[in-house]
Amino acid sequence: MSAPRLIDTHAHVQFPVFAEDRAEVISRALDVGIWMVNIGTQESSSRDAIKLSEKYSAGVYASVGFHPGHVAPQFHDAWEKESVAEEVFDIAKLRELAQHPKVVGIGECGLDYYRLGDREQVIGSGNEIKLEQKEIFRAQIEIAKDFKKPLIIHCRDAFSDLIEILSPVTHSLLPSPGVIHFFSGTLEDAKALMNLGFYLGFGGVVTFAKAYEKIVREIPLERIVLETDAPYVAPVPYRGKRNEPLYIEATAAKIAEWKEADIAEVKRQTTQNAKDLFGI
Ligand SMILES: [Zn+2]
Repeated sequence: MSAPRLIDTHAHVQFPVFAEDRAEVISRALDVGIWMVNIGTQESSSRDAIKLSEKYSAGVYASVGFHPGHVAPQFHDAWEKESVAEEVFDIAKLRELAQHPKVVGIGECGLDYYRLGDREQVIGSGNEIKLEQKEIFRAQIEIAKDFKKPLIIHCRDAFSDLIEILSPVTHSLLPSPGVIHFFSGTLEDAKALMNLGFYLGFGGVVTFAKAYEKIVREIPLERIVLETDAPYVAPVPYRGKRNEPLYIEATAAKIAEWKEADIAEVKRQTTQNAKDLFGI
């Protein structure tokens, strides 16, 4: 397959919400040169991402990980998983899956304190959940280190703890140690993470949330990768609908507008960044 024109660095096309038309969704992207990495969120979705990648000779890759939102119970999203049964974090199984040749990263993993407030009422101490999230994140950092794969990090309302965890360990990871997907931190957070070598991922939210303009203008294009986070957060004009890798075009266009750059250059540079990050 010829070289990619764009790479969706964070999609979940393996999720059940694509059950009816998954092959078509992927063809629509591959046909126009859009490659994708389908990101695991638990053991089942990591396995499904691998299985899907095996069907394509190039252009469809996988990551394996355990999302911090799944650390505490009471989190269920029907787009992600049909069964409401909770999965537990199993490091041995994740380690085994990480060795598959189509696995290009570990994650999504990280910290998510955003919903802790609601959950505290259901399950007690938010602090206990934070400690557990940190422990499970550290275990996945070890896998990234051992198998020399980049980290795909999810972080919400937890940037100071994230930077505190990553700072002392980054030297033992790859020179480009990973990506902070759906970056939502401050400029200061961005600088600290870029100093550690991380890329920052931006998706469809930039097409409708002007709050991201300032930070996108400040971050060098050499540090930006594009993503959809499909099926979530579809860009304008698909807002509210199921997202898919093809729609990454809208995000590329918005980034070009904000950076006052040629769209072809934005696509070329962000694609190169994604190739360097994942080694594809
Ligand atoms: Zn995701």
